[in-house]
Amino acid sequence: MPKEYTNPDFITYEDLGVQLGESMFPGSHFLYTEEERTFRLNFRKFLLDNIASLAPQIEREYNWDICYEAYQRLARAGYLKFSFPTSIGGHGKGFVYRTIFGEELGAINSAVTVTYGASANLFAAPIIHFGTEDQKKKYLTKIMSGEALGAIGITEPSAGSDAVGGMKTTAIKTASGNSYILNGEKRFITNGSKADYILVYALTNPNAPKKNQGISAFIFPTNTPGFERVKEFELVGRRGSINSYLRFNNCEVPAENLVGGPAMENKGIKIMMTGLDGERCFTCSQYIGVARFAFEIATRYANRRVQFGKKIQEFEGIGFKISEMYAKLEASRLMMLRAARMLDAGQTATKEVAAAKFTAATSQMEIVVDAMQIVGGISYTKEYPLEQLYRDAKIAQMAAGTVEILKFLCEREIYSSLKLDKAEGKTKNDPKP
Ligand SMILES: Cc1cc2nc3c(=O)[nH]c(=O)nc-3n(C[C@H](O)[C@H](O)[C@H](O)COP(=O)(O)OP(=O)(O)OC[C@H]3O[C@@H](n4cnc5c(N)ncnc54)[C@H](O)[C@@H]3O)c2cc1C
Repeated sequence: MPKEYTNPDFITYEDLGVQLGESMFPGSHFLYTEEERTFRLNFRKFLLDNIASLAPQIEREYNWDICYEAYQRLARAGYLKFSFPTSIGGHGKGFVYRTIFGEELGAINSAVTVTYGASANLFAAPIIHFGTEDQKKKYLTKIMSGEALGAIGITEPSAGSDAVGGMKTTAIKTASGNSYILNGEKRFITNGSKADYILVYALTNPNAPKKNQGISAFIFPTNTPGFERVKEFELVGRRGSINSYLRFNNCEVPAENLVGGPAMENKGIKIMMTGLDGERCFTCSQYIGVARFAFEIATRYANRRVQFGKKIQEFEGIGFKISEMYAKLEASRLMMLRAARMLDAGQTATKEVAAAKFTAATSQMEIVVDAMQIVGGISYTKEYPLEQLYRDAKIAQMAAGTVEILKFLCEREIYSSLKLDKAEGKTKNDPKP
């Protein structure tokens, strides 16, 4: 045993005895209904009993098989069904429930959370909203049961933030009209090489006057000839999740796989934009879960660690940090919750979701960094999971809409809702001088 561990003052991770979610209890009944709180507690118990023990192995070994096993345990317990409509056998829970789910799962393991998110949210949501009845029955029931894994393919080497303007993947209708021939590349696709189905966006009319008038969405079965798994990216964080570079070489996709049927040909931009607010709202919850866990470790540690004869919590430099971390965590949760309740009420929440997402993403990073500072040198080792949370956190500022793009979107919505022309500072209805 290393000498350090024989020192009775040395605090091991086990000594901290962090009970995941303890910071949520006081005051949570002002935010959530009794039914929502019961869902949270039951789900948290399920995670602690069934998933938490797998998390260290997923992370340490970058182990997709164990990550997938965790996903399958969620499926077997029926937890994948909760966000699907009752019309196809789901539990019909809305966005608030999704954020509770994402926060609790995010606090346990980010790799499992994104595996879930890519399949049950990103792949499924566009089909829930726009899919034909046949598409819903054929694909979504398999996703809900865990029988099939989904992914979404938007990003390409030349199409990142400018997802539409930079898109080069094409899906050209065959002469018979019965199928489309897909060619192109998709990059950074979560679950990509393991997925059974990928919701792929492609140009069906590359000559449209505006690119966003020529995009369609397809359900792409990955057993299609010509589909190539080019490479897996080894990620800094979310270790254990799959992130792939994919290529489509003359892949023939049946016309019946066009999401929404013939009426939605060249209208894929509507499908892409409709789901984004809900998906981004879900991602906030994952960031809050990570930040909450870091906060809980740091507050416990500061209450145990003694230097200069005092608990470090009593030093202003530490105590102020803890208060600021708490405020950022709660502000993120309140912004996300308001956006989720608006979405559940059927309202547009683009501005609210964008602001919630860049706030939660940036706060998460700051909270994790402050937690490491509070815990000191030992946080920079693998004795505590803080270094993992640090690596898991960074991607939040870049994926599903970078912080910069979200601020741009938020600003656009602010001016649009004020009906102000931002260049001139006049209302749009002002008579011309
Ligand atoms: C781990 C991971 C998982 C992912 N999963 C998926 C997935 O499942 N499916 C999928 O389709 N995609 C996925 N992505 C892709 C992700 O959505 C993109 O990385 C993201 O949209 C940003 O694109 P980019 O990385 O090409 O950066 P770029 O768009 O090249 O941006 C680079 C920098 O320039 C800034 N920038 C760009 N344009 C502007 C502007 N107009 N104003 C100000 N700043 C700007 C950006 O904010 C960023 O800081 C994933 C990415 C990662 C890393």
